[in-house]
Amino acid sequence: MARSHAKLLEAKNVHVSFGGIQALCGVELSLRTGDILGLIGPNGAGKTTMVNVLTGFQKTKPGAVLLDERNVSSLSATDMARAGIARSFQAARLFRGLSVIENLTVAGLGIGLSKKQAIEQSRDILEWMGLQREADQSCTSLSYSSERRVSIARALALRPSFVLLDEPASGMNDQECENLMEVIVRIPKQIECGVMLIEHNMQVIMGVCHRVHVLDGGRSLAEGPPERIKTDPLVLRAYLGDDASRTNARV
Ligand code: ATP
Repeated sequence: MARSHAKLLEAKNVHVSFGGIQALCGVELSLRTGDILGLIGPNGAGKTTMVNVLTGFQKTKPGAVLLDERNVSSLSATDMARAGIARSFQAARLFRGLSVIENLTVAGLGIGLSKKQAIEQSRDILEWMGLQREADQSCTSLSYSSERRVSIARALALRPSFVLLDEPASGMNDQECENLMEVIVRIPKQIECGVMLIEHNMQVIMGVCHRVHVLDGGRSLAEGPPERIKTDPLVLRAYLGDDASRTNARV
């Protein structure tokens, strides 16, 4: 079985530039199995670029990505996934010709499970994620919110050591966000992995994360428990500008 047992994912001194734009500059963060880490910041802060670096879609220079102290910076996105780092995308990117359960089963086969094991695993994930009714549905007929949850389920079917979720709540209503939060808090125990969550919805971030790392303009601004981040003056200024110092603002 291709399951990885990595316990620590680290970004060291990450630098990415696009032409003249410094998207990330010296960012350091780490994620352990069992953690739920929120990655937040204003538009253009570098959040998606960070996820791309950690999953092999973008290279850091200088800097490194370490998986249990092994430098994996040069691995392709496919090899990062094999090494145990999975992600969901802002756009769901499902195999649209396949049913929901087939989408998950393909992922299970990809990590070396037998067909029977892959189907069993898919049913199990769909059940605890509350998606069992959608199992045999074609991906083309899913509601927007189900599509986003299936995309997370498919990432989990890779049995990752770490899963990175890029704005999973975007476009969801309050009830759908509540359901999503219930799913996210279960992931570390169900899959024995660490979760990194990029999200603009602060209720989701503050409701599920153990720690929050804040980026602004490609640099790390703050990191800490949600309660502290909510009232951190630097974070408030990044989000609200100078208004933050004139009010009792909270993120
Ligand atoms: P958002 O919350 O709006 O999704 P973000 O925090 O995820 O933003 P990134 O998408 O990582 O931010 O972008 C960081 C910076 O890098 C921005 O200035 C963006 O315009 C720039 N950028 C990102 N990808 C590219 C690219 N492929 N080519 C050029 N510039 C890019």
